Amino acid sequence: MFNFKKSLMYKFLTILSFLLIISSCTEKSKIPVYVWMGHSDKMTDGELKDQFEDLKSKGIDGVMYNGGHEAETYRRIGKIVKNAGMEFHTWIPTMVQGNNPKLNAEWYAVNGLGESALDKPAYVDHYQFLCPNREEVYDFLAELYGSIAEVEEVDGIHLDFIRFPDVILARGLWDKYGLVMDREFPQFDYCYCELCVTDFETLTGINIKEVEDPSQVEEWKQYRYDLITNLVNRLAEVVHSKNKQINAAVFPGPSMSKKMVRQEWNKWNIDSFYPMNYNDFYLEGTKWIGDVTKEEVTSVNSSKPIYSGLFICPNPEKKASEADPENHGLLPDEIEAAIKESMDNGATGICLFTPGRMTDAHWKAFKKAIYTDYKKQ
Ligand SMILES: [Zn+2]
Repeated sequence: MFNFKKSLMYKFLTILSFLLIISSCTEKSKIPVYVWMGHSDKMTDGELKDQFEDLKSKGIDGVMYNGGHEAETYRRIGKIVKNAGMEFHTWIPTMVQGNNPKLNAEWYAVNGLGESALDKPAYVDHYQFLCPNREEVYDFLAELYGSIAEVEEVDGIHLDFIRFPDVILARGLWDKYGLVMDREFPQFDYCYCELCVTDFETLTGINIKEVEDPSQVEEWKQYRYDLITNLVNRLAEVVHSKNKQINAAVFPGPSMSKKMVRQEWNKWNIDSFYPMNYNDFYLEGTKWIGDVTKEEVTSVNSSKPIYSGLFICPNPEKKASEADPENHGLLPDEIEAAIKESMDNGATGICLFTPGRMTDAHWKAFKKAIYTDYKKQ
């Protein structure tokens, strides 16, 4: 009797493991996909449930959700996302912080003309960047991300705007702002606050305010890469201490991200990277996505996942007549090539900006592309 039961159990286990192998093979044939998404106060729980179940059915594995600073919002949304079977990451800007009673005016970054990013932000009104060198700024961010990482439904903290303001704008944005950014200009160059200038002089003996062209001082560049890197690594300790993941949206590179926004992100101790490989912002095609993905994967020695961020065109038929690059992006007939370039060059998966911009034609091409086997690196 006992042996009979045992042999039945073995049979059962053999069938079970066979089924598991089959199902894991099926799983493997789909690439991992994340999406960046904003929050709407108006949606009911039922509407949110339908929306997230729809995304899951389309092949989405995780959501980077931008819902403000309140832990309660993330508890509510996170529960619905998790029930739909997806990962839930909170997408909360880091250095860009608007007016907030918790933040003092002197903690904001200062440009090479001595202007504060609080009162005189570069390019657009919301470019109110904090100084990454202030201990008070670290305290504010550690408390913000630490409290949200404590929410049970949160799988990870997703940093964004974790950088300086663009000292060089992406080529596709020059016309929009009427600029030729062939070199660094003081009004877009940060941070020359008293603390940064003094600390840099203590460290190197160089008074950067007396230098005619600060862009030629290699130590000054490295100093600012390190300010961001140190801040990220300290925040990573906070989030990891809550047993949660931490990842970030970064500029392509790090060769470009260093030059444009002073992100030497390959040195960050975080769990994964979401480079915004937005080809249209650089007036490039899908081949470029492959080139930058290769650099990104190589820069971290293939030791951490790179999810290639893809910028979707919301109105494909109007792209040619649209002047604003914010309305450009990948067309439905480019999405397969964009995904293939990313995957063939070592990306672990992709991240869409945004699912709301995807047309039916995008989803159709997307479905084919995510269920394709790509060559292993
Ligand atoms: Zn500063």
